[in-house]
Amino acid sequence: MLELPESYTISRQIEKNLTGKIVSDIEVLHTPHSFAFFQGEIKDYKELLKGQTVMKATYHGGMIEMDTEDCMVVFADGAYPRYYEDRRKFPKKHQLAIYFDDETAVFVSIQMYGFIYVLPRGKCTEEFYISSCSKINPLREEFTFEYFKSLYPGNQKKISAKAFLATEQRIPGLGNGVLQDILWNAGIDPRFDMREASETDFMMLYTSIKKILKEMCEQGGRDTEKDLFGQKGKYITQLSKNTLFEPCMKCGNEIRKVNFMGGAVYYCENCQKR
Ligand SMILES: [Zn+2]
Repeated sequence: MLELPESYTISRQIEKNLTGKIVSDIEVLHTPHSFAFFQGEIKDYKELLKGQTVMKATYHGGMIEMDTEDCMVVFADGAYPRYYEDRRKFPKKHQLAIYFDDETAVFVSIQMYGFIYVLPRGKCTEEFYISSCSKINPLREEFTFEYFKSLYPGNQKKISAKAFLATEQRIPGLGNGVLQDILWNAGIDPRFDMREASETDFMMLYTSIKKILKEMCEQGGRDTEKDLFGQKGKYITQLSKNTLFEPCMKCGNEIRKVNFMGGAVYYCENCQKR
């Protein structure tokens, strides 16, 4: 799934490689997909995009936004845009194709589920998008320890470390994927009850978010995900499907997996307090 390190990486790649390209054609749902979700009327996509020039790209949390003069295209969750220069390598199955007048193209083949928006620029009122744009980016200086602590709901209801960091879009772009290494680095289990968190625990979480996200971005995303060119990121994940049953890099204990809150979480029993 697209999370902050991937949206950061891919939006920069789009800006560098696609800026100035002119859209010559569009194809939507060439291959049907039950979990491909669209914003805006699909029938309008072609009219909106055809003849438009790619101007810039940016990211909001885990979302990628590519802008033309009058139009915005957004990719989220499993909607990975992939760029092809060689016609012979164009994929046969896809849910969105954007062809450029220099014979190159971008294809989206949804993994699991994904969201695609094609809308007039500045006209997106979708709640998740608005929230992603308005929250403070954890990479920025404005994401201070005080701000981070203010995100904690602070009532008496139990809230796990995973729920605190990766739900309610408190921190846009921090999902169940990047969460794993952030918690491992902080020494906290995903199931840890945040009501028991000390000031030190909050500080460990905060510094971990900053440090791990920065590393992931600098290294072109995680090694479990692919970029605009289909290349894996260079950040070696400590806890992911790649390292299940492998020894923990801190203590040598076996990495385990459990299903928690509708998704797999990986952990080292020895290094992460529960
Ligand atoms: Zn360990």
